[in-house]
Amino acid sequence: MTKLRLAIVGAGPAGIYAADILLKAERNFDVSIDLFDHLPAPYGLVRYGVAPDHPRIKGIISALRNVLDRGDIRLFGNVRYGTDITLEDLKKHYNAVIFATGAVHDADLKIPGIDLEGSYGAAGFVSWFDGHPDVPRTWPLDATDVAVIGNGNVALDVARILAKHADDLLSTEIPANVYEGLKASPVTDVHVFGRRGPTSVKFTPLELRELGELRDVDIVLYDEDFDYDDAARDAVASNKQVFVIDKVLNQWRQRETGTASRRLHLHFFAKPVEVVDDGTGRVGAFRYERTRPDGAGGVVGTGEIRELPIQALYRAVGYFGTPLPGIPFDKKRGVIPNREGQVLWKGAPSSGSASANQQMYGVYVTGWIKRGPVGLIGHTKSDAMETIRHLINDLGNWWRPESPSEQSILDLLHERGIRYTNLAGWHNLDLHELALGAEDGRTRVKVVPRPDMVNISRAE
Ligand SMILES: Cc1cc2nc3c(=O)[nH]c(=O)nc-3n(C[C@H](O)[C@H](O)[C@H](O)COP(=O)(O)OP(=O)(O)OC[C@H]3O[C@@H](n4cnc5c(N)ncnc54)[C@H](O)[C@@H]3O)c2cc1C
Repeated sequence: MTKLRLAIVGAGPAGIYAADILLKAERNFDVSIDLFDHLPAPYGLVRYGVAPDHPRIKGIISALRNVLDRGDIRLFGNVRYGTDITLEDLKKHYNAVIFATGAVHDADLKIPGIDLEGSYGAAGFVSWFDGHPDVPRTWPLDATDVAVIGNGNVALDVARILAKHADDLLSTEIPANVYEGLKASPVTDVHVFGRRGPTSVKFTPLELRELGELRDVDIVLYDEDFDYDDAARDAVASNKQVFVIDKVLNQWRQRETGTASRRLHLHFFAKPVEVVDDGTGRVGAFRYERTRPDGAGGVVGTGEIRELPIQALYRAVGYFGTPLPGIPFDKKRGVIPNREGQVLWKGAPSSGSASANQQMYGVYVTGWIKRGPVGLIGHTKSDAMETIRHLINDLGNWWRPESPSEQSILDLLHERGIRYTNLAGWHNLDLHELALGAEDGRTRVKVVPRPDMVNISRAE
């Protein structure tokens, strides 16, 4: 019987679901899967993106863990595609590869002053509070007034973690350095800015509601943002999610404020114009243009420029994928170009015709690197189904590797001195983190430094 030796790069939800779906799929060949990740622990953004105070979502890790614990997928953590292993290596040892490398960097916000000291991307801050091994241990939390640019759930995560009292995060898995950093934060006012109106936000109702439950934090809304036009009223009447969001915001408008020690302001119809220098190269103010509805569901600028004094700014305007060596990349969208998961490259133009997209045989994508950084964890499942369907049907076009044995990749990693971690190693680290948590009466405390993660995993 034919055997598919498959490499999957990226052990986030997309990679794990792809492996699971392939193993359960109807097919007339055997499968053997190796799952690589450059982090020593699996689960991608579920571990290092989803906020620590969202234990229900973090709980998806149990479902992903069940897939790995079945034992029919080999995990290789602490192995980076592009440096530790290359496309040539994969072609030598596998019949095909699926890239599920996600999107971990911030999209750009091209306004003057965005690179000033005190201006941050959401991704860095999220990585810090989620204990990512590759960001510095300390985060400069010295601002009293902070702006968060964006109207999606990541903007809400950033604003909530900034405004929340650190003691209210103590029951979560946040590492000690994160608790201490947040505990010392002098923040009083967090301002979230969106370009459009309250009926055009990308927040989900659940995430929004949560803001209203923060202890000792007032939610501040501004009446001028609630003068709806017909398009906004239609949106409230026709879309259930918008209806709920509008209802929540209007309930908050009726609340008494003024007693809390911290405030979370939601500003709408505000288009970023500039981050203003305080004269020392640091963030001093946020300048924005007031917008108004254009009557068709969008907004136009009014020409009215406003300025809010702040000392820190976070942009949460979307994530962006990272190019991978040897693999085509769409620089505009930050994804690997593909047709339903089959990777495409621009073939040479033939007889004067424009270059056409051709399938790059043996190479597939799934998850955020396939369709861009939008959608929830659950969406990566349907993504994976589509990709796996093509992988199965493409059997005749798979690579023909010269060393397909399961031992050969182990030999290669050993030869290169790569200190990879495996599933047993993840169990070691998992137990260690649970034990650290138990000492403190918490469920888990994350281990942050990469060498510690690797040493604990490898029991060295
Ligand atoms: C801040 C934030 C909060 C979120 N909150 C929620 C939420 O509450 N609920 C929800 O449903 N969704 C949430 N999401 C969305 C969810 O995280 C994504 O839908 C999902 O993680 C995408 O899965 P993925 O596997 O494509 O990418 P990822 O989860 O990013 O996994 C990609 C993996 O590839 C690895 N990798 C990357 N490059 C390489 C390389 N060169 N070599 C080896 N490995 C590599 C990475 O280490 C990572 O483990 C959130 C996202 C963010 C950013």
